Amino acid sequence: MKQFKTESKRILDLMINSIYTNKEIFLRELVSNASDAIDKLKFISLTDTKVNSDFKINISIDKDARTLTIEDNGIGMTDKDLEKNLGTIAESGTLAFKKENAGQTDNELIGQFGVGFYSAFMVADKIEVYTKAYGADKAFKWASSGAEGYTIDEIEKDGLGFKIVIYLKADGEEYKYSDFLEEYKISSLIKQYSDYIRYPIEMLMTRSKRKEGSPDDKPEYEQVKELETLNSMVPLWKKAKSEVSEDNLKEFYKNEFHDYQDPLKSVYAKIEGTVTYDTLLFVPARAPFDYYSKDYKKGVKLYCNGVMIMEKCEELIPDYFGFVRGIVDSSDLSLNISREILQQDRQVKAIANSLEKKISAELKKMMEDDRENYEKLFAEFGLSIKFGVYAGFGMNKDKLKDLLMFYSSKKEKLVTLSEYVKEMQEGQEDIYYACGESYEKIASLPQIEKAKDKGYEILFFKDGVDEFVAKILIDYEGKKFKSVSEADFSLDSDEEKKELDQKSEEFKDLLTAIKEQLGDKVKEVRLTAKLKTYPVCLTAAGDISIEMEKVFNSMPNADGKMKAEKILEISSTHKILDTLKKYSEDKETLKKYATVLYEQARLLEGLSIDDVTGFVTAMSDIM
Ligand code: ADP
Repeated sequence: MKQFKTESKRILDLMINSIYTNKEIFLRELVSNASDAIDKLKFISLTDTKVNSDFKINISIDKDARTLTIEDNGIGMTDKDLEKNLGTIAESGTLAFKKENAGQTDNELIGQFGVGFYSAFMVADKIEVYTKAYGADKAFKWASSGAEGYTIDEIEKDGLGFKIVIYLKADGEEYKYSDFLEEYKISSLIKQYSDYIRYPIEMLMTRSKRKEGSPDDKPEYEQVKELETLNSMVPLWKKAKSEVSEDNLKEFYKNEFHDYQDPLKSVYAKIEGTVTYDTLLFVPARAPFDYYSKDYKKGVKLYCNGVMIMEKCEELIPDYFGFVRGIVDSSDLSLNISREILQQDRQVKAIANSLEKKISAELKKMMEDDRENYEKLFAEFGLSIKFGVYAGFGMNKDKLKDLLMFYSSKKEKLVTLSEYVKEMQEGQEDIYYACGESYEKIASLPQIEKAKDKGYEILFFKDGVDEFVAKILIDYEGKKFKSVSEADFSLDSDEEKKELDQKSEEFKDLLTAIKEQLGDKVKEVRLTAKLKTYPVCLTAAGDISIEMEKVFNSMPNADGKMKAEKILEISSTHKILDTLKKYSEDKETLKKYATVLYEQARLLEGLSIDDVTGFVTAMSDIM
């Protein structure tokens, strides 16, 4: 007996003891696995004529043994595959499990993995798999009764494929597992979940038939078993648009992409033009846990005339729309297209272009007509779009800028740049933004208070990439982006400016003295009128903002050399000025005040204290 990997065991436990209400989806999972396996062998059969291409999936019921059997003649598995695929949950699943399993319900957990094969354990207390792989000379049996482990033995098997025998659990009060031994139940589940599967799903169905030779006036009937195909086999994307409902699309998505959640958006389109193709596109409700890592593989399923030629064709989808899942079926492609050809293929490029336009248009439409879902999408995948704006020196920025959203100080929700610009105050030249780790932290930046008081809307940039996006965009509809933390940010009226100039003159010596004390920690010390309650703030001159300094320094190979040119600004209206003035001549004390003010300003900007001992000593001395 072999042991499951630790995390697989926990997921198995979860399945076995699951209270997941939708247990019946195990059938959909197994059937779609079978269909995937046939897809793979069908592709091989294009070049290997020895392969039996009478592809089908067979379901059978044995009431006495309480078993349900699903068999396909697809690509099958070797003993190594069995070990790898059924001995452990896909590596990815394991990771997600470790990271995210705290405090979640079964449903949410199951929903996260789409643990295909294992879902059978929701209804089974024993599972046997009989399989022979394409190209292998030996067949194997895999068996498991759950978490204790599994066995793999060599067996004899005719033909390629995969047969799974499910020993149903005993009926209990909470669930009647024997329902899955009823023909009508299975056939209706297949119709509900797997109707469009492109291979026949066959099962012996009991029908009442008139006995041959029974007299017309006294007809006699007998029960006969006939092999029937349960599904209609028409791929969804080959149906007329009018025949495909939103629910059909959702069901298809969950089935095809092993997701338990409805997609946020489904698109069904038949494109005709320079290239012709049918496509189904979906935006998942949640970002896969590895979406923002390099492990994530984007891509859509690529078909040529109904034959799948590639599971994930990454060439068809740009990185920034990498979250889109779907299917493209085109007759303009060659069936035996290879990965290498794919990259240069003109048709593929043309489809990719067209697909990108389609996705972009659909997302814009969604933003306008279905804002709630677009916001959900943006919460999950907005970063991807932002990286897209920034990547390649902004080569795609014009295509993407209208898909961006940022949090507005005024509306207290996400707004688009176009909405922001439309509502700019009279005389406002620039798009104002402020950076920080969270909306709360940004809202409490000293520079924000007065700007808000004056009625200005400020965009809150909380992702590290946001400010880079602004810098790459440079402007939107001619309005430049301006950070409230930039040294020359000012909302002062002419009168306020005059007053500030006067005060600056008055306190000139004091400011110079403070600057002397701080040395090259700051580029300048000056007065400002932009603060309301806070005594100080830190702003940056030059190209590197304080937020960018933080981002640079959090990178793995940071050398600490990327530094913003900081300016310490002291509020011209704060009482602290009078206190400071008293010590203009007392260099010793002034140094302490300068230290405290500087470190406070750093803290307010979300930076850490530069010199902790110096700060603590100065602080306690003053106190
Ligand atoms: P997923 O299908 O999401 O990858 P599963 O746990 O359902 O996860 O299956 C794991 C793997 O086992 C599949 O990726 C596939 O390689 C293999 N597999 C499952 N069912 C079959 C089958 N009927 N025939 C051949 N291989 C299969």
